[in-house]
Amino acid sequence: MSRYDVIIVGAGIVGLGTAHRLLEARPSTRLLILEKESTVASHQSGRNSGVIHSGIYYKPGGLKAQNCRTGYLQLLDFCRTYGIAHDICGKIIVATRPDELPRLEELHRRGVANGLMNLQWLDPVQMREIEPNVAGIRGLRVTETGIVDYPGMSLKLAELIQQRGGQIRLGEPVINLIRSSHGCEVTTPQGTYAARTIVTCGGLQSDRLARQTHPQLPMRIVPFRGEYFKLVPERHYLVKNLIYPVPDPAFPFLGVHFTRMVHGGVEAGPNAVLAFGREAYRKTDFNLAETYETLAWPGFRKVATKYWRTGFGEFRRSWSKAAFVRALQRLLPAIQSEDLVTGGAGIRAQACLRDGSLVDDFYILEDRDVIHVCNAPSPAATACLSIGSHIGGMVLPHLN
Ligand SMILES: Cc1cc2nc3c(=O)[nH]c(=O)nc-3n(C[C@H](O)[C@H](O)[C@H](O)COP(=O)(O)OP(=O)(O)OC[C@H]3O[C@@H](n4cnc5c(N)ncnc54)[C@H](O)[C@@H]3O)c2cc1C
Repeated sequence: MSRYDVIIVGAGIVGLGTAHRLLEARPSTRLLILEKESTVASHQSGRNSGVIHSGIYYKPGGLKAQNCRTGYLQLLDFCRTYGIAHDICGKIIVATRPDELPRLEELHRRGVANGLMNLQWLDPVQMREIEPNVAGIRGLRVTETGIVDYPGMSLKLAELIQQRGGQIRLGEPVINLIRSSHGCEVTTPQGTYAARTIVTCGGLQSDRLARQTHPQLPMRIVPFRGEYFKLVPERHYLVKNLIYPVPDPAFPFLGVHFTRMVHGGVEAGPNAVLAFGREAYRKTDFNLAETYETLAWPGFRKVATKYWRTGFGEFRRSWSKAAFVRALQRLLPAIQSEDLVTGGAGIRAQACLRDGSLVDDFYILEDRDVIHVCNAPSPAATACLSIGSHIGGMVLPHLN
């Protein structure tokens, strides 16, 4: 059996960021990453909006806020060092109705508390100087927001990890994870590997991995598909950079927006519809066992009872392009259905507790030599190097 100091399960950007930071801190670490797919960043890390978040949304003091701010600077440094495409182009958050104004002010307060610089209030005229086609009654300009190539960053991280002696085995799903008399062991269809410490960074599968050592885990991942449209090239001029609505505090991840992509093009979306499978990227994909698992989870049933109206609205926008376009027109009245063509989709891993609460912050379960990253929601891509240092700091004491 091959033996390592650390095995990381999952080569998304959190697993890769953790491996990178560990090898920087302790170059002699014998490290293995096991990834079930044939490429790194196949799921959330390679199918997201490509935004470098500034930290304006998050509750001051929480892990999200802290790691987003430190991770932001570390990400910029990484991108500059290794030539990863990025652009700090700024974004505007646009209030279109008076009832959104207090929420926009709350965002401003959070931004200031989280140490954001150069936040600017905009009246409608000032908004249109930045985004000539936008409609709204007040805007907040967040100059620190940017866009980046996360798949490119993930590939670079993988390259650096391998250069430093780390191994990455692709196409090896971990099917069993146990503690043994000599540490921990994981099994894949290709073999069994032992390590002093195991870190799971399984994204959409995080609860399944955590349940291998914590069968009573009071949390399940509920998958929400986010669908994007692309603006046809002739209408790219409608969007200069990033235009966002004011988020609903109950569902900060809801609200379709416009994002200029770092390699060109403009995306609109994503919505958030319950996915009938953890990797059900197409509307018609249906995984019976996984759908049953979601519906049977008491926490999900509580969420569905409470928020069925919101969920229904998202379904409507998923099946009706006209409804999707109407949501976009609140921000950009000139946009028409024929300006949009179907784009890709990502699936968000939403951690849901048995009591029906949705876990908002990062949630890392540490039990001696096994560390499970159970919830790494947005802005985990922005924050990956900072979360990586944080998790690395939890691992190092086990190696000394
Ligand atoms: C639609 C969408 C838009 C987003 N936009 C942004 C954004 O603009 N900016 C931002 O900062 N964040 C964004 N996020 C959030 C961000 O993408 C995620 O928080 C981040 O990518 C999580 O990384 P991860 O490594 O934890 O998970 P993942 O990228 O999902 O990686 C988990 C990996 O584990 C592997 N795995 C799972 N089970 C096993 C197993 N048993 N054996 C081996 N391997 C396994 C999977 O194959 C996968 O590669 C967005 C997310 C979504 C879904």
